[in-house]
Amino acid sequence: MSERSSVSVIIPVYNEKDNLPELLARTLAACRALGRPWELILVDDGSRDGSTDLLADAARAHPGEIKSLLLNRNYGQHNAILCGFAAAQGDIMVTLDADLQNPPEEIGALCAKMDEGYDIVGSVRQDRQDALFRKVFSGVVNLMVRRTTGVKLHDYGCMLRAYRRRVVEAMLLCRERHTFIPVLANLFAKRVTEIPVAHAERARGTSKYSVLKLINLQFDLLTCMTAAPLRLVTWLGVTISALSVGFGALLLVLRLIYGPEWAAAGVFTLFAVLFFFIGAQFIAFGLMGEYIGRIHADVRERPRYILDRVVGETLGERPGTATQAHAARSSGN
Ligand code: UDP
Ligand code: MG
Repeated sequence: MSERSSVSVIIPVYNEKDNLPELLARTLAACRALGRPWELILVDDGSRDGSTDLLADAARAHPGEIKSLLLNRNYGQHNAILCGFAAAQGDIMVTLDADLQNPPEEIGALCAKMDEGYDIVGSVRQDRQDALFRKVFSGVVNLMVRRTTGVKLHDYGCMLRAYRRRVVEAMLLCRERHTFIPVLANLFAKRVTEIPVAHAERARGTSKYSVLKLINLQFDLLTCMTAAPLRLVTWLGVTISALSVGFGALLLVLRLIYGPEWAAAGVFTLFAVLFFFIGAQFIAFGLMGEYIGRIHADVRERPRYILDRVVGETLGERPGTATQAHAARSSGN
């Protein structure tokens, strides 16, 4: 593994105007201190607050260092990162958030760990600065991902991560429209580790994830990872049916012992049982719906995003070449 492997830093940006000046200053300083070839790729995910112009200006002000990819509308954080991946030229790709919750100063530590030959270096937020419900939620999700994938990482939600180029290329070949990058990457990585990193409160602005968007993201994470819930539902159905046969037998015996009056009074028990079945069925249908919805989205093969404009060149490429080739590939054509 070459110590001098080049680095692409990819940052998705959605309405982060107030954070951009500090983000750019700190990230550029961190990259310049790396002592290896690097590029900074900023992906504007359809911002409406003027971030787009700031990103275009930044690319013009730092030729050879910053490339700004401007999407024509909002496609979501993970699609924006995939767009950045497609244009990135580095051997190592580092993602981080634009709101300064992930300190750009940690990029060097991630790259140093990658030099030890890992395919992915994740990060664990120390003293995480988020609302309690987000932390509890993450704890449950992380446990679930660890159990299902068998990959023993502790913080899948933290987007401050480094990936080897070959892992990213494999991810770009995946056609699914709903995806969760840190979990998807596990499929293609052999050596995975994580390092502790600092975590700050969001510097300015508000989280781009409402509770509903967060729940949607968890479904993306779940369905991109495994079909096990569908199997679980089948087993649940089998268990419930088996139990209900036993329950039916019990009701029959009790009726024989206590006579028909008792059975009439047992109507309410039957209702309770019925509601249980109805609930279980709805859960099953809902889960199947989640998967079918994703199959539907994937067979339509809609492009994940449309790249409106690319501003700037980095790492000595000829204008536009890499970006155009990758844009065509990632648009599903
Ligand atoms: N983001 C994005 N598109 C979106 C939502 C978010 O590019 O549709 C970016 C956002 O600008 C930030 C990162 O993704 O750089 C993480 O978003 P946020 O900080 O709102 O998420 P949280 O920290 O609350 O999970
Ligand atoms: Mg954030």
